[in-house]
Amino acid sequence: MTAFKIREYPDPVLRKKCVPVEDVTEKERHLFEQMLLMMRRFKGIGLAAPQIGISRNLIVADLGDGSICLANPTLLKIHGADTMEEGCLSIPGVRVAVDRPAEVIVGGLNEKGKSVVIETGGLLARVLQHEIDHLEGKLILDYLN
Ligand code: ZN
Repeated sequence: MTAFKIREYPDPVLRKKCVPVEDVTEKERHLFEQMLLMMRRFKGIGLAAPQIGISRNLIVADLGDGSICLANPTLLKIHGADTMEEGCLSIPGVRVAVDRPAEVIVGGLNEKGKSVVIETGGLLARVLQHEIDHLEGKLILDYLN
């Protein structure tokens, strides 16, 4: 049904820096839907556009209490520190302990194109940072040292 597939390391698209979207239109909403579909199919809790081969600033997440779609997500504020093992749908079978700020404020545009600010901690803060890393071409492997 879908033409997309999960791109796996070392696919070069995972290392490409993404470009911002100008607006959230039907096209972006379609991509969000496809990303959510792929994320759920492979039982992920977050996905970034490069993981389906699209170099644009789009991420999705769902920790079981509703989906979050963000275009042009930006870390506005970070606080604290925490270490947790992370996996990635693009690097099957690999777990890496990653140090990250524990709490974040993330801004962006939602699926309706409305400007939103998400203030969160714990797992969602971690997932959002992991997906924002993807937009910069950064992977959990880069935290290995
Ligand atoms: Zn990932």
